[in-house]
Amino acid sequence: MGRVTCYRCFWPQKLCWCDSITPMPTRTKFVLLMHPKEFKREKANTGRLAHLCLPNSEIQMGMGFDDNEIVQRQIADPEYHSVLLYPGLEAHNLSSKDPLPSELTRKPLQVFIIDATWSGARKMLRISPTLQRLPRIMFIPTAPSRYVIKHQPQQGCLSTLESMHELLTVLEKSGLDTYSLPEQLHSIFDRMQKFQMDCASDSTLGGYRRQAYGKTSDRKPFRGKSGSRRRYLKIWPNPPEAS
Ligand SMILES: [Zn+2]
Repeated sequence: MGRVTCYRCFWPQKLCWCDSITPMPTRTKFVLLMHPKEFKREKANTGRLAHLCLPNSEIQMGMGFDDNEIVQRQIADPEYHSVLLYPGLEAHNLSSKDPLPSELTRKPLQVFIIDATWSGARKMLRISPTLQRLPRIMFIPTAPSRYVIKHQPQQGCLSTLESMHELLTVLEKSGLDTYSLPEQLHSIFDRMQKFQMDCASDSTLGGYRRQAYGKTSDRKPFRGKSGSRRRYLKIWPNPPEAS
């Protein structure tokens, strides 16, 4: 059975998101650096849905970005102060009460966001020294993940879309931007998740699972091998040390 796909949101045309999304203009520019595996995940790709809501955002797919001319031009763009969203001691924590460093306030920010698992993100950073050199920002999430479908390995782990919501929230609180529709990203996220759960409970559909999804609160953190699937955006506030 063929299906017609919307090539903007990559969902089947019948479920296309595009008409239900209200674009949110931002002073900040967001560049999602997407691991090829994330890029292929189509329906579970929350980064792409966030991108559709944010007209001042772009997606660049790849592993290393030092040879990516578009990304290099973006990093050098004098209109923006470029930063990398990546937690760690050297990152400016936007959730803290610390005064903003002056370079964060002089120009609009261009935030590069790696959309990958932790191990994927570390590798992407390792092979992209131009990204390593960017000043870093981070935040502390205010709410646990709403994700029911993909088990979150530990508290404080967020999907890309949820991370974008948290980031926009702290940018607004810091006076660096305005966040016009704070409900929108979550409602899109909930709708996406409901669709996936409906598929999982219907044995005639492709996503059927014999065991229903458990409640988020019943989760136990993953250990061992599955830990390598952790997504770096979700690990706050104590990310593993880079190896
Ligand atoms: Zn669409």
